[in-house]
Amino acid sequence: MDLLVPSLPTPLLEISDEVILKAGVRLFIKRDDLIHPTVSGNKWRKLKYNLQQARLEGAGTVLTFGGAFSNHLYATAAAGKYASFETIGIVRGEDPGERKSSTLKFCEAQGMKLHYVSREEYRLRNSDDYINELKRKFTNTFIIPEGGTSEFALKGVEEMAEEVKQQLGFTPDYYAVAAGTGGTAAGILSSGSNALAFSALKGGDFLENDILNLIGENNHQGQLKLFLEYHFKGYAKYTQELLDFILIFKKKHGIQLEQVYTGKMFFGLYDLMEKGYFKNGDRIVAVHTGGLQGLLEGLKRI
Ligand SMILES: *Cc1c(COP(=O)(O)O)cnc(C)c1O
Repeated sequence: MDLLVPSLPTPLLEISDEVILKAGVRLFIKRDDLIHPTVSGNKWRKLKYNLQQARLEGAGTVLTFGGAFSNHLYATAAAGKYASFETIGIVRGEDPGERKSSTLKFCEAQGMKLHYVSREEYRLRNSDDYINELKRKFTNTFIIPEGGTSEFALKGVEEMAEEVKQQLGFTPDYYAVAAGTGGTAAGILSSGSNALAFSALKGGDFLENDILNLIGENNHQGQLKLFLEYHFKGYAKYTQELLDFILIFKKKHGIQLEQVYTGKMFFGLYDLMEKGYFKNGDRIVAVHTGGLQGLLEGLKRI
């Protein structure tokens, strides 16, 4: 994985504004969006040990799963190319033909082979029978679950938390993180820290179980608080209110967020601060998990 030349440790900076001051907290941002130009944020953290394991097992190909706008497919295509793996993407839905998303175009440009499957088939992505079938079909292939979220992902995310502890000189009271599959939140918890996880999808209740299952038996794990109310109508959906928040945040702090994950997480975090959720003196690290290749055109302008 040395071909991936990451910028480590990623910067940690403290920001301040009237909401933070009024809440009496300290807010730090872990800039994992700066980790790598194409393998961004938490995807780099989650892929690191997955790819190391693939290499250890002697696999020449890595296969993974995602939708047409998946940041994980994007990152896996790029990382696979850097690390000299062939890559296969199992994509949910029909072949879009000429109307391919920019994410899928990028994946193909990196050499990823895309296989389109029906939503019914895609639903089988975690079933043992289906995985075994894929293993028979694609030999010499290491299979990474959707989102990169596996036991190997946790170790990479724990390293992010370790960096933060070194940088701060203390363990924060909370990490705030956006959740899609929950792998990043699980890694934070297994590092022993508390996580506030903001679901980027509607009906994200399943995340709690998924996250706790990923961690398994671990008695020094942190506390999880899952927020389900900040999905803005569903995965990859957004409202003008969310876009305005992202624009104002960038004007104030000079940090670009996107509308699928980090915008929703920061919106939720600011809402909690305004509602008096935190104790005076609480120290929060919000993880900027990257994903900026999925930024809406309209948010790029300023
Ligand atoms: C994939 C992604 C997430 C979700 O991470 P999970 O570990 O799947 O919960 C959060 N933020 C960004 C920017 C992402 O690309």
